[in-house]
Amino acid sequence: MSHSLLDEVFYSRCAVCSKTIKYNDFICEECFKAEVKFIEHVCSACGYPLEISASFCKNCLLKRNYDRLFVACWYEKTLRDAVKNIKFRFGLKEKFFIDAIVGQFIQENELNHYDLVVPVPVSFRRRFIRFVHLSERIAKNISLFYGIKYKKILSKKRYTKFQWQYSRKERLVNVKNSVDCNFSTLGLNILLVDDIITTGATVNECARALKLKGAKRVDCFALAKGHFR
Ligand SMILES: [Zn+2]
Ligand SMILES: [Zn+2]
Repeated sequence: MSHSLLDEVFYSRCAVCSKTIKYNDFICEECFKAEVKFIEHVCSACGYPLEISASFCKNCLLKRNYDRLFVACWYEKTLRDAVKNIKFRFGLKEKFFIDAIVGQFIQENELNHYDLVVPVPVSFRRRFIRFVHLSERIAKNISLFYGIKYKKILSKKRYTKFQWQYSRKERLVNVKNSVDCNFSTLGLNILLVDDIITTGATVNECARALKLKGAKRVDCFALAKGHFR
């Protein structure tokens, strides 16, 4: 095999700037730094990401079932494209890109003091999901990294319309009482995992189901926060 052919086979192009990169990489290191906007400001009460530096989010004036929320980055441009590629075809590099974002976040934040890692039930994400259940992949990665047990214990209780068909206010109503937990969570500290959050209504409803079965504490981790409309 000639040298140039080896290069062809074992190298890849950055999805943003087209620079030559390692075969399994999605984007280059410079673009990773420029494109992935890690979240800087969060609500002091719940950890909900804020656009600007402020003490509390609007949601904290309403009833909140989870104790804390961790979100790695904003759901923008390159990440949005990567997620789309994962969902509509098998994007292996894109999956590794997402693993890298989660990896960086969990190395910098100690999310290790949980008894159980639980993914948000997949049907909430059926608009996007084709080939991969992203919340499950992320939850499994966190479980492996910290050696915490992974368990799918949440399911959808009744039919709800696609989330995107609703306004923000309707979304909060739409998910109410829509999740079941089939496992006794008595006294457990649980890390609930989602891929993309917008209003936080889905994780809030999942946390409610976990608390109803006795969970002592429910914290949430999401890969990214989308801007609402
Ligand atoms: Zn690049
Ligand atoms: Zn808050």
